[in-house]
Amino acid sequence: MTSASALLPAQVVVRVPGKVNLYLGVGPREFTGYHELATVFQAVSIFDEITVTAADTLQITGGGKYGHLVPKDETNLAWKAAQLVAKACGEEPNLAIHIDKSIPVAAGMAGGSADAAGTLLACDAYFGAGIPRDELDAMAAMLGSDVPFILHGGCALGSGRGDVLSPVITRGNFHWVFATFTEGLSTAMIYERTDEMRGMEFNQAPDVPNELLAALAQGNPAELGRHLHNDLQEAAIASRSVLKDVLEYGRDLGALGELVSGSGPTCAFLVRDEASAIDLVVGLKSSGMVDDAIHAHGPVHGARVIR
Ligand code: ATP
Repeated sequence: MTSASALLPAQVVVRVPGKVNLYLGVGPREFTGYHELATVFQAVSIFDEITVTAADTLQITGGGKYGHLVPKDETNLAWKAAQLVAKACGEEPNLAIHIDKSIPVAAGMAGGSADAAGTLLACDAYFGAGIPRDELDAMAAMLGSDVPFILHGGCALGSGRGDVLSPVITRGNFHWVFATFTEGLSTAMIYERTDEMRGMEFNQAPDVPNELLAALAQGNPAELGRHLHNDLQEAAIASRSVLKDVLEYGRDLGALGELVSGSGPTCAFLVRDEASAIDLVVGLKSSGMVDDAIHAHGPVHGARVIR
């Protein structure tokens, strides 16, 4: 007779993307502490890889470019994701989760959320649970407001806390350059600073401009570049003044549009094509102002089992 554990696969590998917010409108702070968002997410081709294998207890290891920065304990969102799926399957979460990390950490690219989304999918496949998509979505929303989007990928409009998604029509492929920094920025601190800078009387509800959605539908990067916007950008620049110089530098080197990604400090530059992206990567790297510059494209798929 075959035991249940003998039926489990040796390992499951999931690939999961980072994101950039093409538009990030942030409403006033609510009494719950949260902010209503109106955002357009795009998944981009900077990927983490999550590998799940059997182990004696739940454990996390990190590898790749940023693996050393990944929390190895229950504070890692991937840990919580594994516990959620195991509980739903009536299994013990005795799993080794290896995170091969290329998405910069505390960078405004949803790296932690990506690992949570990837682990949800990997554990579901590992246990052969076949959890229905709406239940996986609900688990994702419990883990963090960016997690549902990363599970889906592509391009989407996010409302509520960013976790209520609706599809966005988008044509073609957009080229990006991401200027990254070794030292991250705290998301909570950037929201707090935004509230302080706006003052108590701020009460504007956020809204995504139609022009941005039209540019996506047309696949028009020049037009999209004109409408990129992030309400958190001022606070990110106030916290890290070099970001202003980096954004200006990229614009002078021909970017079609530029903004701070999420709560920063990563700066995202939309460029016309691959050749422009390579030029900008070289320019930014030689500026001495950034720690790295990466060419990526979007939209790409969300979390996906690859082995
Ligand atoms: P977001 O764009 O969703 O606000 P971020 O990209 O700015 O997030 P993350 O890379 O998710 O930031 O990291 C934020 C913090 O979350 C880190 O300082 C880290 O302590 C914690 N964290 C938890 N799980 C992870 C993970 N798997 N990878 C990286 N950081 C994680």
